[in-house]
Amino acid sequence: MRVAFLGLGAMGYPMARNLKRDHEVSVWNRTTEVARNHVRDHGTNLLATLEEFRASDVIISMVPTSREVDELIDRLEERLAPGLLWIDATSGDPVTSRKSGQRLAGRGVDFVDAPVTGGTPGAEKGTLTVMVGGSAENFQRAESVLGAAASKVVHVGALGSGHALKAINNAMLGANLWMAAESLLIARRFGITLPIALEVINAGSGRSNATENLLPSRLLRDEWPLTFKLALHDKDVRIAASMAHEQHLSSPMLALTSQLFTAALHEMPHADYVEVIKLAARINGEEW
Ligand code: NDP
Repeated sequence: MRVAFLGLGAMGYPMARNLKRDHEVSVWNRTTEVARNHVRDHGTNLLATLEEFRASDVIISMVPTSREVDELIDRLEERLAPGLLWIDATSGDPVTSRKSGQRLAGRGVDFVDAPVTGGTPGAEKGTLTVMVGGSAENFQRAESVLGAAASKVVHVGALGSGHALKAINNAMLGANLWMAAESLLIARRFGITLPIALEVINAGSGRSNATENLLPSRLLRDEWPLTFKLALHDKDVRIAASMAHEQHLSSPMLALTSQLFTAALHEMPHADYVEVIKLAARINGEEW
């Protein structure tokens, strides 16, 4: 299939490379040099400007938020032929994605929201999990395209459901991270070392992705890589909080998590998401 991949960031760059195994992939990136590097290193085709976009069977967008997706639709709308499938892999906003789907349907273009989980390691290895929102027919088309980039592609419901579930998932991740940090601070002040605390928690019922995978490297090996921007995680938690607000659901944990992430973002605008735990320490006069 002819796939146009838009957005070669931390996730998009390796995803487009993996898709090249099964498809004819053209790449576009806001900063064109990144796309040129992709073409040179992975044999993809260059889409230097969006104005060069001609024909393709599928577009995949992987940009920061639904706002940038909308901008891409604005710029490409006139050039999209009926029958094209637009797969939005961005972790976007479910309300906006429904509007985008309606707008594109008016031109005979199909749209699914298909955010991913698995982080940059999953993107590199092609083992992402994709959660797809849209019709059953469009899901099947998306699944057949995404196989080279993912080990699991799940139809989660109607259009917007993928973005909704992704936001909820990341809100849980955020709450787990903060709670793990608070708990480890308490343990450490009590005189229990971090390696021992993590060893026991990870053999017990308090464990999570935060304690098993994220915190050991940061806290025990002092490695703080930038893999997923705190600003993007904050966006996901805010989407989940706004969904709860819209649905008139009482969700105090989520509201608090959202407040804490926003505070952390003001403190550390360029940080990785796991660095939110630095704020949990600082408000107690501590450092990790
Ligand atoms: P990055 O910040 O690494 O990359 C963002 C990409 O979007 C870059 O290609 C950037 O281009 C492009 N971009 C930024 N602004 C614009 C704009 N105004 N118009 C067009 N393109 C733009 O982000 P990630 O790859 O980490 O994240 C992409 C999406 O995937 C986000 O929605 C994120 O929440 C989600 N995600 C991220 C994960 C991760 O671990 N990193 C895991 C799962 C989902 P340029 O090179 O010019 O800056």
